[in-house]
Amino acid sequence: MSDFTFSRNFVRLNTKQFQMGSPEEKKESIASEGDIKTTKAANFINNLIEEDLAAGKNGKRVHTRFPPEPNGYLHIGHAKSICLNFGLAQQYNGLTNLRFDDTNPTKEDVEYVDSIKEDVQWLGFKWNDQELYASDYFEQLFEWAVKIIQSGNAYVDDQTAEEISRNRGTVTKPGIESPYRNRSVEENLDLFYRMRKGEFPDGAKVLRAKIDMADNNMLMRDPLMYRIIHADHHRTGDKWCIYPMYDYAHGQCDYLEGITHSICTLEFEIHRPLYNWFLDQIATSDYRPRQIEFSRLNLTYTMMSKRKLLKLVEDKYVSGWDDPRMPTISGIRRRGYTPESIRNFAEMIGVAKRDQLIDVSQLEYCVREDLNKRANRVMAVLNPLKVVITNYPDDQVDELDAINNPEDPNAGSRKIQFSKVLYIEREDFMENPPKKFFRLFPGGEVRMRYAYFVRCNEVIKDEEGNIAELHCTYDPASRGGNSPDGRKVKGTIHWVSAQHAIEAEVRLFDRLFVKENPEDVAEGQSFIDNLNPDSLIVLPKAYVEPSVADAKPLDSFQFERLGYFCVDTDSAKGKLVFNRTTTLKDSWSKIEKAGQ
Ligand code: ATP
Ligand code: MG
Repeated sequence: MSDFTFSRNFVRLNTKQFQMGSPEEKKESIASEGDIKTTKAANFINNLIEEDLAAGKNGKRVHTRFPPEPNGYLHIGHAKSICLNFGLAQQYNGLTNLRFDDTNPTKEDVEYVDSIKEDVQWLGFKWNDQELYASDYFEQLFEWAVKIIQSGNAYVDDQTAEEISRNRGTVTKPGIESPYRNRSVEENLDLFYRMRKGEFPDGAKVLRAKIDMADNNMLMRDPLMYRIIHADHHRTGDKWCIYPMYDYAHGQCDYLEGITHSICTLEFEIHRPLYNWFLDQIATSDYRPRQIEFSRLNLTYTMMSKRKLLKLVEDKYVSGWDDPRMPTISGIRRRGYTPESIRNFAEMIGVAKRDQLIDVSQLEYCVREDLNKRANRVMAVLNPLKVVITNYPDDQVDELDAINNPEDPNAGSRKIQFSKVLYIEREDFMENPPKKFFRLFPGGEVRMRYAYFVRCNEVIKDEEGNIAELHCTYDPASRGGNSPDGRKVKGTIHWVSAQHAIEAEVRLFDRLFVKENPEDVAEGQSFIDNLNPDSLIVLPKAYVEPSVADAKPLDSFQFERLGYFCVDTDSAKGKLVFNRTTTLKDSWSKIEKAGQ
């Protein structure tokens, strides 16, 4: 029956995992208390903030912002930045703004704005007031640009983009001043207003800050402030045809919003002198936002560039931005990750000044830890093998008690049905078992979880010699899982009752890329060549116990011995689809250690 193949880390059935609260599990949860749940560890950003507070800077306020560009969906790297910005504000009774950095009309879209808002809220954070947009400040930014021109510190340049780039010089060679650099204030003002009016085509002119073409920092060599783009903007429509550059807009937006600490990723460290330079041009008081850089999150086996994620979506390598294999927040949400697990992850990895490459198994560890506490256990059979209990009465149904979650005393218990025909996992039976195979085999006896001891007497095969079903007998005296004569049965396996179980589609996910660094490619290849062909395996006909029949999209369960699964948003009434969030144990690192 199985016309699908299993990925190599598919259900490592391990009877040991079956024992509730095994010593291994206990150790993990103790470790997690130390690692994750403690109050926020102070990091270097805390120190800088506390320095500012002690000095009485900016009225002793803490006000941060999260400034996404609405040109794609947020990913787990953004989640780190969100947790950091909102977390710091919470720590110091401050505020956090959500500001869309929408200064590039050609790549932005309302769909992205909506998804970003949803993701931030889902992570559990509340931004100050309404969400804000850099585009709301276009008029103010324009006025400030005029002011900078008037003070002689900006000019309109007619050089082409290539000329500007060529004349910027190199790290070892100073740049060449533009022939237009010494235009009069009047001429610059006139040209700048006419740029705004739409008199010039794209690329004909730019506004540049007049700083120093010989500065050691290349970014200070007369950086661009405005460029001409005749394109409609998702919020301002056709009102503008000149748009501010990120470097010019960002600090001024921070200033307008009263931001005190502008936290960004390390690549902006060399932009900091420019950030401060612009602020010095326009500030009218002592108040200054302070830019602080931290290292971006990189994860093994994970692609984190929005541009490349967009390619995966557009070229249909994945089903969309929220494909459960994507590292987007919407993808991992659909995969079954909880907001708590992501916040714990952000806390666990901390913030640093050096580039971080985090093992993706740490993220998986966090979701496992969290779901272990909150997901109810149920039984499901992914790769079914029929078992007929020959000595069980045809129409009889036995109702047995099953514990919902041994980690949560309030989760209670439920009834599960046992009957004559069951399904078990194909992998739980072997015709010719090796020595330490404690599951079912001809003549062997196994415990059906919460039910009875069952012995296999006969293996029934189809014409091709495939195992079609097993004929077994049960021991009525072993109800509840123990035998009165004290005989030992080592293995316990999961099962469902054939007449009661409901059919479901199950989607098993594996890493999207086969290489730890998806960008590690041979010449002429791209990251696309590193896609894992087995990253999605669909099991169209699995069986789940009926207690999950009314589960809603994103509800999570532990399928006993198999992993954590959540209801996919593709589910409809009577047609459940489950996503495997993660296996119970980290099978990848074992595979890697074994050098397979
Ligand atoms: P990408 O490189 O994926 O396109 P970006 O930096 O262009 O991302 P923005 O929308 O500008 O995306 O990012 C919003 C905020 O999230 C910024 O403050 C940025 O520094 C931060 N951020 C982006 N990627 C990461 C990451 N991998 N780790 C931590 N913070 C990140
Ligand atoms: Mg950016």
